[in-house]
Amino acid sequence: MKVTVLSGGVGGARFTRGLLAHLAESAPGSQITVIANTGDDMWLHGVRVCPDLDTLMYTLGGAVHEQQGWGRREESSRVSQDLAAYGVGWDWFTLGDLDLATHLARTQWLREGLSLTETTARLCERWRLADQGVRLLPMSDQPVETHVRVDDGLIHFEEWWVRHRAALPAREFVQVGLAQAEPAPGVLEAIGEADAVLLPPSNPVVSVGTILAVPGVRDALTTTPAPVVGISPIIGGAAVRGMAAECLATIGVAASAEAVARHYGRRATGGVLDGWLVDTADAEAAEKLAADGWRTAVTDTLMRDVPHTARIAATLLNLV
Ligand code: GDP
Ligand code: CA
Repeated sequence: MKVTVLSGGVGGARFTRGLLAHLAESAPGSQITVIANTGDDMWLHGVRVCPDLDTLMYTLGGAVHEQQGWGRREESSRVSQDLAAYGVGWDWFTLGDLDLATHLARTQWLREGLSLTETTARLCERWRLADQGVRLLPMSDQPVETHVRVDDGLIHFEEWWVRHRAALPAREFVQVGLAQAEPAPGVLEAIGEADAVLLPPSNPVVSVGTILAVPGVRDALTTTPAPVVGISPIIGGAAVRGMAAECLATIGVAASAEAVARHYGRRATGGVLDGWLVDTADAEAAEKLAADGWRTAVTDTLMRDVPHTARIAATLLNLV
């Protein structure tokens, strides 16, 4: 089976790990293409940092810091601390020592002229993602950076998210570089040639929303012969982890399973989805959507461990 996933960081990575466990049992030999949001990418201390790509790579490669959900396990921060002593960079954004090796390798290859796609493939060799049938692609090889309009002007998304914990009122998200961006090689094909396209419970605004905004990607979803189904990142009116509700508020969408589905829209009426999986807390939303022609399902969508997440993935694939 060929499955394509449009993913942010922690939510998308946890889901994809469960999907792999499920497919290893039910459809061995499946090929999974993960298209990652790169809107969170930034230059920091002269190195290129790609938070969502790295969260996916570490999670699927078995190296992630499990409790934190991102970064490397058994990490230290000696370099960051020493940089802070020079007063350099952003002291609120810790670059772990092991993580820094990833950024240095990536930056060297980018400087040598490799694309982000090629660079990502090289990094993933070490973590043996191909052995699991996984190909990790950036949404675009051109830099696209999400900035947030706050009262004082534009700041990088990570500054708003990590430093200010999304507490500064966000007036608007601006994707700098979007107009010049193209889907990375393989992205449109992976959507067009898949047996199923999945939206994991990633942030609908600054993760999946950014991927959809890359010119050509939304059209690929609306026209692919494959079914497109997703999981609500909102359970009972709240984002499980993180601050997705603040992002939704900025674009005028309510933080509810039903509102997020309607924001994506049903493909039959010009949107990008055919089906939507919601948590048992939102069974009512599923009923309302089903009455409007959506394929829906209801299950416990809290991704508490890999076996449970594999069952969530199985329920989502049943909608296909
Ligand atoms: P980020 O890039 O690290 O912020 O990660 P993503 O965009 O991939 O996913 C973040 C979103 O996943 C959060 O906004 C949550 O709403 C959602 N999420 C996280 N954990 C869970 C979970 O266990 N179940 C569900 N349904 N959603 C989750
Ligand atoms: Ca992210």
